Amino acid sequence: VPVWRRCSTCKKEIMTGQTYYVCSVSTCNSRSTQYVFCSVACWDAHVPVERHRGDSAGAIEKKAPLTVEPDKPVEGKRRVVPGAPNKAASSESDDDILVVASKIRKYINDKSGMNVSASLYEALSEKLRGLCEMAIESARADGRKTVMDRDVL
Ligand SMILES: [Zn+2]
Ligand SMILES: [Zn+2]
Repeated sequence: VPVWRRCSTCKKEIMTGQTYYVCSVSTCNSRSTQYVFCSVACWDAHVPVERHRGDSAGAIEKKAPLTVEPDKPVEGKRRVVPGAPNKAASSESDDDILVVASKIRKYINDKSGMNVSASLYEALSEKLRGLCEMAIESARADGRKTVMDRDVL
């Protein structure tokens, strides 16, 4: 079994397909940190080091992928593609996430120390789509071809 990654606390190998743990605190999952733990005990050990607030930190159980993937982020590549102006592409992007998840998570975490569920980004995107549609209507009613700040006020 190939080694997937190493535990951030005890440096023990985490094999592909093995159960491991990540921290629920966003700073422990940023691209530069990306802590992974072989056990809850190892996750526990990093909490005092990182000085997490007791109620905001949690261990999340995950399963290591069955294959060792190359390190480069695949999704970053996909997002670079400029939105084609054809109908198919625009309807496809209808349930896209419109918000910058990392920024929202950081904002909420900084303000409150609370965690953010992934479903929040979907709900926020849904709200934004609604706002955008209202703004489009407002601009249209005004005879403009440009949607402006005043259209969402
Ligand atoms: Zn460990
Ligand atoms: Zn942590």
